[in-house]
Amino acid sequence: MESLLRAAVDRQQFELYFQPQYGHHGRPIGAEGLIRWNHPERGLISPAAFISTAEETGLIIPIGLWVLETACKQLKQWQKCTSTEHLTISVNVSSMQFSQSEFASQVTQIIQQHAINTKQLKLELTESLLLDNVDRTIIQMEKLGALGIQFSLDDFGTGYSSLQYLKKLPLYQLKIDQSFIRDLMSDMSDQSIVHTIISMANSLGLEVIAEGVETNEQFQYLQNKGCHYFQGYLFGKPMPISELAIYLR
Ligand code: C2E
Ligand code: MG
Ligand code: MG
Ligand code: MG
Repeated sequence: MESLLRAAVDRQQFELYFQPQYGHHGRPIGAEGLIRWNHPERGLISPAAFISTAEETGLIIPIGLWVLETACKQLKQWQKCTSTEHLTISVNVSSMQFSQSEFASQVTQIIQQHAINTKQLKLELTESLLLDNVDRTIIQMEKLGALGIQFSLDDFGTGYSSLQYLKKLPLYQLKIDQSFIRDLMSDMSDQSIVHTIISMANSLGLEVIAEGVETNEQFQYLQNKGCHYFQGYLFGKPMPISELAIYLR
């Protein structure tokens, strides 16, 4: 796996797919970038199959930079055109990549090179990075936040964070994990958890987005509870950028 992945980095066998994100007005507000490995014989390989190997081998560093660069190039394209200039892009950043001391300067370089308006760039972090070193995480977030980048806490509710961290971290958005959405219409516990996350986000002044929204009932329910943004198969699956362009039109 490691040597295959190393070859994939050298041969640039990756593709960034995009999944639309929606506002409560029912219009797209942007997309999340989701990496795919386009293997010449095995076809498209999902990130679940290779991200952990990439992290263990350190290959996540070059892969993550490629993702960020690809996302920024796309954002620049959108920002050139009045019909798409409002759209945002969310990029997943692994904890290992984020905790590298060079990360902030690498991001700065990519942003400057592509001259993007950073207020439409979001980085999705997971709570696992809090296991590392909270103070260092906050410093890194503040450096990037000063550039205009916003942070979303991905898979929220499944990790390690205490409410103490929520108060400390310079976050912009909470992303409700899809495991709470899946059985939302039949599971009372999921309903209370989702309700609690939304009202907490609102009172802390954070945006809240639900991932894994598959049915209209889930969408209506979340909308009634005050969830701001939505992402899931109901609105669209992750797709190549060419398809997203058609979709947005
Ligand atoms: P994630 O960031 O939490 O992304 C959400 C995952 O849920 C994606 O899987 C997406 O395709 C899937 N999904 C979206 N809507 C629905 C839905 O309505 N129903 C269901 N059942 N699933 C839905 P994907 O693309 O396989 O990515 C899996 C994970 O791999 C991501 O979870 C993220 O943690 C990681 N990943 C993806 N791209 C990158 C990347 O560029 N860098 C890093 N570090 N990690 C990445
Ligand atoms: Mg994500
Ligand atoms: Mg997630
Ligand atoms: Mg996830």
